[in-house]
Formats: sequence, C-alpha cells, structure tokens
Amino acid sequence: MTRQIVSVVGGKDAAGMSTYQSTNPARTSEVVAAVGLADADTFAAACRTAKEAQREWAKVPPPVRGRVIASIGRLVEANAESLARLVTEEIGKPYAEALGEVREIVDTCDFFLGEGRRLYGQTVPSEMPDKNLFTFRNPVGVAAVITAGNFPVAVPSWYLVPALLCGNAVVWKPAEYAAASGHALYRLFAAAGLPDGVLNVVFADGAETFRGLERALEEGTVHKVGFTGSSEVGRKVGELTGRHLQSACLELGGKNPMVIMPDADLDLAVEGALFSGFGTAGQRCTSLGTVIVHESVHDEFVARFARAVREAAIGAPDGDVLAGPLLDQKFAERYEEYLTWIQPHHEVVSGATGRITADNPRGAFTGEGGLYYHPVVVDGVRPSDRLFLEETFGPVVGVTTFRTLDEALELANLPGYGLSSSIYTTEATNAFRFREGISAGMVSVNNSTSGAEAHLPFGGNGKSGNGSRQSGMWVLDQFTRWQAMNWDHSGRLQKAQMDVADITPDLGFRL
Ligand code: NAD
Repeated sequence: MTRQIVSVVGGKDAAGMSTYQSTNPARTSEVVAAVGLADADTFAAACRTAKEAQREWAKVPPPVRGRVIASIGRLVEANAESLARLVTEEIGKPYAEALGEVREIVDTCDFFLGEGRRLYGQTVPSEMPDKNLFTFRNPVGVAAVITAGNFPVAVPSWYLVPALLCGNAVVWKPAEYAAASGHALYRLFAAAGLPDGVLNVVFADGAETFRGLERALEEGTVHKVGFTGSSEVGRKVGELTGRHLQSACLELGGKNPMVIMPDADLDLAVEGALFSGFGTAGQRCTSLGTVIVHESVHDEFVARFARAVREAAIGAPDGDVLAGPLLDQKFAERYEEYLTWIQPHHEVVSGATGRITADNPRGAFTGEGGLYYHPVVVDGVRPSDRLFLEETFGPVVGVTTFRTLDEALELANLPGYGLSSSIYTTEATNAFRFREGISAGMVSVNNSTSGAEAHLPFGGNGKSGNGSRQSGMWVLDQFTRWQAMNWDHSGRLQKAQMDVADITPDLGFRL
C-alpha cells in the first residue's frame, strides 16, 4: 500500500490541501508516497507553534540537549539500512552512497552531542578594575529550513542538529520529491524525545513555502532561514530575508572546476573526475562542472577519461553502479535542456547522449521504466559557452585547456560560483597557489570535487552562497547570537575609555 504522509506541526498531523506523488525514479510507475502538501497558512502556523515551543526548549541545559542529539545519532545508526533503502527508492541514489549519506547524519550527531557540553562563551578582561566582561551564545529563536532533495537526509541534518542543539526550534520544509525520506528522518528525530513543536516538518511547494515564509517573517516568528537549493531560488529567499534585516544561510548551486596540471597523476585524476562528474548522476552541488586540463596532457587525459566513462556502470541503484537514474522527472526535463547547449564546436567524446532506452541503449542496459541518462563528456568547451558558465545539474562534464596556472585560475573562477574546486598536481607550490587564487569555499588537492566531512566547514561564495558555512564549530555562528555582558562590582559608575588607569611610559628612552 502507498505511504500517505502529511506535515507534522506541534507533534500532530496537519492535513494537506493537495496531493503530490513522490515516485521512484528507477521505476517511475511506482509511487513511493502520496504527500499531502500544505499551504502558506500551515507554514506560518508551524512557525508560530515553533516560537511557542522554543521558549521551554531553550531552558533545557545544553548538555541535556546534547543527550537528545546523541539519541538521534543512535536511532539513525540503528535504522541506517532502512533509511538508506528509502533514499535509494525515492531519489535513485545508489545504495552504497545512500548508506554513506545516512552515516553523515550519525557523524554530525557525534560531533554536536559533545558541543552540548562546550557551547563555550568567554571571560574577557576589562580596561577598568572590579569589572568583569563575558560573552554568551544565545539561541536565535526559530529557524525555518528549506532543503533540496539530492541529499534528502544528510544536508537537512547539517541544519537540524546544530539548530536544535543550540536551543532553537525548527520548521523544516523538505523537497517534494524527497518527502518520504524527510518524513522518515523527522520520525527518527521525534523518537529521540524532542518535545512537540520543537521540530516541525511541513511539506509544501515552492510558491506556498515562499508565501508562508513571508508571512512568518512579518509576524516575527522566524529568526533564521536556512536554504539549500538552486542559486535562482536562493536569490529570492536572500532578498526576502534581507528585507527583514536577516541574513539567511544560503547553500546554493555550483559549477565546480577541476584543474589538471602537467605533473598530475593522470589515472588518479581520471578516477576523481569520474566520481565527481558522474556519481549521483552528476546531481551533487559539488559535482564536477568543467575539467580544465593543461594542453600538454589534454589528449591523454581525454582519451583515458572517455574510456572510463564509457565503461562506468549505470543501472538500477540497488546494484553495484556508479550512478542510477536522475532524481525526478523535473530534473530529467531540465537535463535534456542542458544537452541542447552542446554546440557544433564541441566534441562529445563519451559515446551516446540522452535518455537510455531500447533504441538508445547502454550496452545491454535499456533503462526501462526509469529516468536513466547516458553520461556525457563534452570536449572543446569555451569560456563563453553556457555549458562552461552555468550549473548543469546532471551527468555532463565539459573539458577545456589552459597554458599557465594563472590562466587556469581565471577560467576556474570565471563562472562566478564558488562552492568546491580541485587541482591534481604533484607540486606543492601549484597546490598552494591554486588555494590562494580560487574563489571556492572548498579546495581539494589530488581528490575529487565531492566529499564533505561533518567537522569541516561546508559552503560557498558568489553564486554558490553568501559566505555562510555549515558543519563543525563554524555553523554555531548561524544558530546562536553572541551576547556581551559587563558586570561592574566597584560600587561606582566607571566609564569606559574615560575612567581608565594610565601608566605613563618614557617614550623618549633610547639604549
Ligand atoms: P530548488 O531551488 O528548486 O528547490 C530547493 C527547495 O526550495 C525545495 O524544497 C523547493 O520546494 C523549495 N522552493 C522552490 N521554490 C521556492 C521558493 N520560491 N521559495 C521558497 N522555497 C522554494 O532546488 P532543486 O532544483 O530542488 O535542487 C537542486 C539545486 O540545489 C542545485 O542547484 C544544487 O546544486 C543545489 N544544492 C546545493 C547544496 C549546497 O549545499 N550548496 C546541496 C544540495 C543541492
């Protein structure tokens, strides 16, 4: 029987206004869940509920909140296989990667459960006697979190876990096409004993979410917005929050470059390009966009890369494959548009393009019933091409050449994103010059553009985000506000900068 899921606000199911069918992209006739979509009123009501619940949650001592995070981690670990299977079923991510995604939630909980016993403030010396200065981290209030569905459980956990640990309440809006995975994660969080209303999940489409968020911001029931998704929608969310004098945490798209120096280990580079270009069918925010390869090794690299891509296993995501189907019909349609950006001056070096069907098979694989696409490598890409300048969420990688590292850096920064990047080189000076010159928030040396760790800052610049960072201690600044306190116990009014003791130096002194 098809799962029926609806939003949960204040611990209670909230009826949907319309129904969305989340389908299995590997077998599109299979409905994974019938999702009741809420309207803007429900979103705004959830924010009011969260505001109410947050007051009591903030009073729970942080070490105790840390124990709740510990329980979430243990629950996710104990349910890892079933959650990963659901992710595979709903978005077509190969099972091994889905299991890795679930592991990332456990790692995030492991990091933040200890933060419950730190969440340090400081004691700061005063310029006056008998006066003490302190800093405290205060929770922000209510966080509204809106997420994409390509990492339907790990990326949301990067918001939910630290936000809750810091004493905030959350209203979470998962992507429609990953709603069942989101609902399952919500249930695991709830089972850890979070009081009703501290975490709420609202399923809604983009337009209703925007209207609901706008209303909540007007009502003063949202104090921080976390948004992971496209640069286009991120811009709108950033404008809206800016009007309310808030700065959202924006985690957006990427056009991630990989530079291959003449001294690179080419086999390693091919392996990295294959994994970051076509793993998750090229639908990671950190997926490889363009290979920028030194002209002296271009031919050799392209020959080896094209061979590796032709031999890569694409197929049912519960099998041992590099990639399964695209996430959802909307991504398949968008990807077909990206393929129209291939121009006569380009050369497709990877074989067939387009949807894998009985008429356009990949070896014996006919892709029947699923949203399967041939992985595509396009050589001869130029800096003015759309393929070079814009994110192409899906299995297509461009290749271009350079002569000097300065030229490679200029090309790598040109599209104006700035999420992830990579360089393959055996020279330390190249690696450090690349690190200094690249505008990306994340830099890999002799590694693919993909692969985050729960305790390292994750985030981008430019079209990839507004400089916010998730993960590790850095995300604490998103979900807390610093408060400074001074306490004067001198018994008199001591005025800063005025009543300061003076020690007179002899500045004319010379040896
Ligand atoms: P999207 O921007 O279309 O949707 C993301 C979320 O926003 C969904 O939940 C959607 O329902 C909601 N939404 C859509 N329109 C909205 C609006 N007007 N107001 C409020 N919410 C709205 O993104 P997508 O196409 O689902 O996801 C793919 C994109 O996400 C890619 O660009 C990818 O690079 C990016 N992404 C970034 C990261 C990161 O951490 N930087 C991680 C994963 C995905």
